[in-house]
Amino acid sequence: MKGTKHIPREILVTGGAGFIGANFVEHILAEDGGVSVTTLDALTYAGSRENLARVMDNPRHHFVEGDITDAALVGRLLAERQIGTIVHFAAESHVDRSITGPGAFITTNVVGTFTLLEAARAAWNGKNDVRFHHVSTDEVFGSLGESDPPFSEFTPYSPNSPYSASKAGSDHLARAYYHTYGLPVTITNCSNNYGPYQHAEKFIPTVIRSALAEKPIPIYGAGQNIRDWLYVGDHCKAIDIVLREGRTGETYLVGGRSERRNIEIAGEICALLDKLVPRKEGRYADLLTSVTDRLGHDFRYAIDSSRIEHELSWKPSETFDSGIRRTVKWYLDNPSHLARHA
Ligand code: NAD
Repeated sequence: MKGTKHIPREILVTGGAGFIGANFVEHILAEDGGVSVTTLDALTYAGSRENLARVMDNPRHHFVEGDITDAALVGRLLAERQIGTIVHFAAESHVDRSITGPGAFITTNVVGTFTLLEAARAAWNGKNDVRFHHVSTDEVFGSLGESDPPFSEFTPYSPNSPYSASKAGSDHLARAYYHTYGLPVTITNCSNNYGPYQHAEKFIPTVIRSALAEKPIPIYGAGQNIRDWLYVGDHCKAIDIVLREGRTGETYLVGGRSERRNIEIAGEICALLDKLVPRKEGRYADLLTSVTDRLGHDFRYAIDSSRIEHELSWKPSETFDSGIRRTVKWYLDNPSHLARHA
C-alpha cells in the first residue's frame, strides 16, 4: 500500500556535506528539475564542501553552514525558504567515536533531531502536504546470531553502542511527533552503505586507503563480523521513493540482501586493486592485519526489505560486485578524497 503522494519542492537536507547526504543532494537535483535544495551542515570533521562540489554552482542548491541544534537558525530557514520537505541525515555516525566520546552523539543525534522536529511542528502547524523524513540505521536493532532471521519493521529495538542508542532515541522522537502531533514523518532504517564520498575513517575507504599507501590493512579481530551492504545510490533512491510515496508514520527497512563478512569485503577489494593497480611485488591481501576488536562489536546485521520492495517497488540496482567495482574505481579516480581525510 502506498501513502498519499508528496511532491517535494523546497527541501531542507541536513548533513548534506557528509557521505550519504552529498550523494542524496546530487541525486535529487539530477532526478527532479522541480526541486530546490537547501543543505544545512555544520561541517564537522565528517563533512566537507568538496563533497558538494558538483552542485555548489547549481542555482537550485543553497549551502548553509550551521548546526541543527541552533533552533533560531533552523526556524528561520524553514520560514525564509518555505521548506515543505526535510530529509534529515545530519548525525554523528562513527561507532568507534561514540565509544570514546558519546556526548556529541547525544547532542547532535538526539537534541539535534528534537530541535528539527520542534521547528517543523511550529512552521508547518498541522499542514499535511509536507514531509519530515528521518534517516536511520539498522544498528538500532542490535546484533544477530549467525542463523537468526534478518531485521524487519517488527524487530524490537536493542541498541548496543552509544551511536545506535542515540539513533534509536532520535527514531523514537520522530515516531512520537507523528503520533502525538500528527507531523507527517517517515523513517528509513538502512544497512551499511558504501560508495563515493564516504569518510576515510570508515571500513571500505580504510581498506582502499591503506592498500594504496602500502600500509597494514586493519581488520577487527578475525574479520568474521557480518554486515548487509548497500550501494549508496540505491539508498538515495529508497529515500526518494519513501518521501514521495511512503505512508506517514511508517518505518521502512532498506538493505541490499548482500551479507558479507568483513574479511570477505577486504578480500574482494584487494582482488580488484590487484587487477586495477597491481603492486610491484606481492598482492594487496598480504597487507591484511588483524587488530584488537571494537568494544561490544555487534556480530551480524541483516535486513529484510520486503516492505519497501512490495509496497513501493524499490529494489537495489547495483549488486555488491558491480557496486564495489564502481566504488573502488571512484576512489582511484578521486585520490584527493582519501588524502584529505587521511
Ligand atoms: P557522515 O558522518 O558521513 O555525515 C554526517 C554529516 O552531518 C556531516 O556532513 C557532518 O558535518 C554533519 N553534521 C554532524 N553534526 C551536525 C550538526 N550538529 N549540525 C549539522 N550538521 C551536522 O554520515 P553518513 O554516513 O552520511 O550518515 C548519514 C545518516 O545516515 C546518519 O544519520 C546515519 O546514522 C545514517 N546511516 C548511515 C549509514 C552508513 O552506512 N553510513 C547506514 C544507515 C544509516
